[in-house]
Amino acid sequence: MARAVLLNPGPVTLSARVRAALTAGDWCHREPEFAALVRDLNAGLAAVYEPLAQDYEAVTFAGSGSAAVEGMLGAFAPDDGATLVVANGVYGERMARMLSALGKPHHVAAHDWLAAPVTAQIAAWLDREPGITHIAMIHHETTTGRLNDVAAVGRLCRARGVTLLLDAVSSFGAEAIEGADWNLGALAGTANKCLHGVPGLSFVLGRRNLWRGPAPRPRSVYLDLRAYHAAEHGDGFAPFTLPVQVAFALREALAEFDAGGGWRARHAAFRQRARFVHRVLTAHGVSTLLPVDEYSVVLWSYRLPAGRSYQHLHDGLKADGFVIYAGQGRLAADIFRVAHMGDITGDDLARLEAALGRLLA
Ligand SMILES: *Cc1c(COP(=O)(O)O)cnc(C)c1O
Repeated sequence: MARAVLLNPGPVTLSARVRAALTAGDWCHREPEFAALVRDLNAGLAAVYEPLAQDYEAVTFAGSGSAAVEGMLGAFAPDDGATLVVANGVYGERMARMLSALGKPHHVAAHDWLAAPVTAQIAAWLDREPGITHIAMIHHETTTGRLNDVAAVGRLCRARGVTLLLDAVSSFGAEAIEGADWNLGALAGTANKCLHGVPGLSFVLGRRNLWRGPAPRPRSVYLDLRAYHAAEHGDGFAPFTLPVQVAFALREALAEFDAGGGWRARHAAFRQRARFVHRVLTAHGVSTLLPVDEYSVVLWSYRLPAGRSYQHLHDGLKADGFVIYAGQGRLAADIFRVAHMGDITGDDLARLEAALGRLLA
């Protein structure tokens, strides 16, 4: 197989410069140059969004995006209040499972996977349960591709003095994010989705006063992000070994991201790819699962064409070098997903159009 083009929601097709960064050298993670690199990464991550640049601080640590979400809930979901989880897909439901496993008080505003969170219902939860001090929600729910209306929930959080904890794992770097306007306490992200790094490092951005304020009892030694915060913002050394080469790649990916125009440019590039793929699939009679204006720019879900299995579509595309993604859970039999992240060229898209033409003709 020649070039592999990943159309799954991370890991992504790497740019040549990010791939080359993996071989930048053999470094010890306890040497000052590595501490400086980690400080640079944390500063670079905090600078991605202007509204977060002043008041939020990042910690970077080893793990996939779920480790960042679980670490964020461990560090910021309260014991002396309660968290309302807004769930409309696999990832929202996973946050509720994490809070159960962590033994933290929570409620779940459960929605159908095809439904948008209803802000009025979330407000009613806050009226009914005055103990709710935090809302945990997914920004881009990758289960369907829906961009949840975090702005509406964030305004509610701000009006009610409720702290927002956001899973931005599949939106960070490609969708708009506000800080104070949403009363954002913290968000979780990862290196290997919209930022175009390699898997192995994730991060949490938290409001400075919350990192330094009263802490819930840690449930984990390894995933105690407040210990990472104290260490990385102290002498710069994380408490445990970080994947050094993955850090090189993230540094390069952030440099490429900044040089390319930051999150707005990436948003525009992903949107263009989304529209291209949508046009091609529509021409072959394939329809979207959600109304198109409800999607993020990062990933869209499509109904499997009548009489074609996911396996047929997947295997046919893979033979041509493209990897698509299946639906999860009860959607597995009905949909496929196409993500728009990674170093994808116009030539790749033209070849994708031809491959889909052969397969769906
Ligand atoms: C990818 C993703 C995660 C993390 O998944 P991992 O497999 O742990 O990297 C979390 N939340 C959302 C919304 C995601 O898309």
